[in-house]
Amino acid sequence: MEPDDYFDDEDFEILKRRIKDDRDRRIFQQVFDSKTLDAIQSLAQKGLFEIVEHVLSTGKEAHVFIATDAGGKKRAVKIFMMETTLFGKMNQYIVGDRRFENLRKDKRNLVIAWTKKEYKNLMIANEARLPVPMPLGFRENVLVMEFIGEGEHAAPRLKDIVPSRAELSEYKEQIIDFMARLYLAGLVHADLSEYNILVKEGKLYVIDFGQALLLTHPKAKEFFERDVKNLANYFTRAGLETEYSELYAAVKAKKDALDKKKKAKK
Ligand code: ADP
Ligand code: MN
Repeated sequence: MEPDDYFDDEDFEILKRRIKDDRDRRIFQQVFDSKTLDAIQSLAQKGLFEIVEHVLSTGKEAHVFIATDAGGKKRAVKIFMMETTLFGKMNQYIVGDRRFENLRKDKRNLVIAWTKKEYKNLMIANEARLPVPMPLGFRENVLVMEFIGEGEHAAPRLKDIVPSRAELSEYKEQIIDFMARLYLAGLVHADLSEYNILVKEGKLYVIDFGQALLLTHPKAKEFFERDVKNLANYFTRAGLETEYSELYAAVKAKKDALDKKKKAKK
């Protein structure tokens, strides 16, 4: 069967109207099912975006596209794969999250729950005024959010740049502040590393919140410690020697200071 045969006329119309690039249209045909195209169409009809411009990233779990709305504003559209190999991983994070206690755990539902989870986590972080993409909407396995970048170009990942020592210590401060504030907002990122941090004009933005979990999750502490470890390792490798225990203590001190300030205000 040719890939085209999976699609009825309506799907083809959606692809043609919404997806600019020929090559990307082919990706959509091969990777996404009819329900995903419907979700894209309905988010577009709500005005969240008009056209999908091109692909930014193709991962194991999701593809990320840059899109434009009617006013020319850029958006990031993250589409989770229904055929992901990561169900084991997803399950681990969703089991134990009281927000998903009543979920029927078939594959499709799990992916949709994952999408919703990323949306909600971004919402929590956004409400706490953390530097994350503003979530704009989701449907099924499709999430639309603010685009972090300039013009057509996504901001580089921390992993992709070579910061000076001065920049590294500045970034370290930003990370300590971020981790402390996220903790106070009740979340642990659980996949924090130089791969999920974008750098734009000297400012760090944290992305990829699908696996982020509530502090009440039984594994929250374990994941929090792993996040601290990843970043301590990153800074050390990048040339700013950072011990795990030092970074951990700095985040905790920051958290306590912020907490105290918050309580004093009440
Ligand atoms: P995954 O790692 O699960 O594939 P991510 O959420 O980390 O998904 O996104 C993958 C890549 O897509 C990022 O490294 C980044 O280059 C790009 N990207 C994701 N979200 C945004 C965004 N809001 N703005 C700009 N680029 C983004
Ligand atoms: Mn990622």
